[in-house]
Amino acid sequence: MGGLNAVGGYADTDGVVANYSTFGSSDYEDGSFMLAAPYDKGRTMTHEVGHFLGLRHIWGDNTSCVVNATDSNKDYCPDTPAANGPNGSCVTSNSCPTAPGNDMIENYMDYTPDTCMNIFTINQKDRITAVMSNSPRRLELKTSLADIAIPLFANDAELKPEKNCSQNACGAGVPVTAQFILYNRGTNPLTSATVPYTVNGGAVQMMNWTGNLAQDAYEIINIATGVSSGSISARIVNANGVADQRISNNAAVVAIGNSVPVSSTNFTFELQLDPYGSEVSWELKNSAGVTLYSGGGYQDSSPALITQAWNLPVNDCYTFTINDTYGDGIYTTGGYYKIKNSAGTLVLSGQDYTYSQQKIFNVVQLSFLETSEVKQKCI
Ligand SMILES: [Zn+2]
Repeated sequence: MGGLNAVGGYADTDGVVANYSTFGSSDYEDGSFMLAAPYDKGRTMTHEVGHFLGLRHIWGDNTSCVVNATDSNKDYCPDTPAANGPNGSCVTSNSCPTAPGNDMIENYMDYTPDTCMNIFTINQKDRITAVMSNSPRRLELKTSLADIAIPLFANDAELKPEKNCSQNACGAGVPVTAQFILYNRGTNPLTSATVPYTVNGGAVQMMNWTGNLAQDAYEIINIATGVSSGSISARIVNANGVADQRISNNAAVVAIGNSVPVSSTNFTFELQLDPYGSEVSWELKNSAGVTLYSGGGYQDSSPALITQAWNLPVNDCYTFTINDTYGDGIYTTGGYYKIKNSAGTLVLSGQDYTYSQQKIFNVVQLSFLETSEVKQKCI
């Protein structure tokens, strides 16, 4: 179909993101909203979902007054009047006097304030229908069962690997404490769970957890593995003293002791900021607590990519700490941090944190050939 990309990009970033200040309607204001007029009636989401379903802006994303439906500057909908650009107010205007009709300031695919938006045209509806019937990722929405709530049980614990931290000890051969996340998915408070586990396929050991988790609350649980490499498999059998009522979310495996070989002590640090650079600061310390590298006080602007060359001597532990004073990390607009070795291989990375995240990694020389490895863990 004209005006659409043949390749839709990554499936896991295919969706709609909304700023809280434009999401929802002030008609339902209960004192907790943070909406910003004039985009405070929920029409931003209507507009963005319009894009999600194949619509373009009514001015064809180009300052021209073309009306030909096949022209690539157009929105491919002949029944939207020609427009020379976006409109920012509800005042009637005709930006293309040579083409008949005023700009359709009522159209959801303009930039006009929410209060005057109220229409998709017939051609826009046809275009949405065509996308819904043909585009692979939209086609399946019509038969998706994802919006049907699953049945809830009284006693349903869930076990997941803790992915934010790599499961490694600081120091070669040091035994690892593996981390899992225990959720309560049941309607009863979760006060106990029986969790048998095996390390590297060995004898079954037992962890008996007790605590008090409300529905959908979680706790990170630590299991000492006694080894520095391999894997640990764990599963929940009992929740609140009875058999767990949902088997499908009970088992989890954590890989431990992953290492990345490095051939020199040279590393590259990358920090992709979000638009709120002034909120972010970070530091790297060695095992003596000496700050080797640090940064912060960045500009609030279009997100900058910060890169630095680091030299990290072998046989030492390093602590990397990153902070966000607002508590929203850097991930919401694609921010991340990465530490790479001299070959460009990723050693450590992160993006999903709130106020602060800290990771420890270890640079170990393995032989006189100067092959080293890096291990990391979260604390
Ligand atoms: Zn748009």
